[in-house]
Amino acid sequence: MSLISANLQAVHLQIAHAASEAARAPDGIRLLAVSKTFGADAVLEAWHAGQTAFGENYLQEALAKIAAVAAQPGVTPEWHFIGPIQSNKTRPIAENFAWVHSVEREKIARRLSEQRPAHLPPLNLCLQVNVSGEASKSGAAFDEAADIAHAIAALPRIRLRGLMAIPAPSDDPVQQRAAYRPLHALFERLNAQGMALDTLSMGMSADLAAAIAEGATMVRIGSAIFGGRPAAQK
Ligand SMILES: *Cc1c(COP(=O)(O)O)cnc(C)c1O
Repeated sequence: MSLISANLQAVHLQIAHAASEAARAPDGIRLLAVSKTFGADAVLEAWHAGQTAFGENYLQEALAKIAAVAAQPGVTPEWHFIGPIQSNKTRPIAENFAWVHSVEREKIARRLSEQRPAHLPPLNLCLQVNVSGEASKSGAAFDEAADIAHAIAALPRIRLRGLMAIPAPSDDPVQQRAAYRPLHALFERLNAQGMALDTLSMGMSADLAAAIAEGATMVRIGSAIFGGRPAAQK
């Protein structure tokens, strides 16, 4: 068995364990394999081990990888964009991805909606929310997130699926859980207001169990599957 395939199995076990600790069903938690900095060969290896959804942060790198993988007959991964978005780079994202997790502003969602090709299904979006205050630069301000979510949900050609967060890193499971809790509360509040959100994109290799304990429905796992990355590209 290859290393990637063994790692995937280990991550699935971690997910199952965390789900069971939280009295949740493991199939309520999707695994997104974050393949940034790793090549098409690594994606193909994971695909052949049964992994179907892949996350990418850097647009140029992702487009080359998507093309290389698409050249393989029968290999049809679902690509998720999870990196920072410049407003002049939305078109290739709208054209090449099934999901975008890192939308912070209505303006970006509007562009993605306008640029989503008519022959493709609506683009699935998560609103990225800042759950770490001053310690984080990315994500919509927590207090503005509900209004932005309602505005995004009204756009055509996209489907608002839920919320995403990247908390300030912490080794303390109590702090890890505390960072995710308000996002889950916001998710519940939006659904109580009539939205139909089904996705809480939270949890990475180092805090997967905490995120699952707080209700994550999609965990974004890179290094635990593919190995370590150069420090500059963490
Ligand atoms: C890199 C990255 C991940 C995966 O991080 P790991 O610690 O390698 O699991 C998840 N989400 C986002 C947004 C990332 O940039």
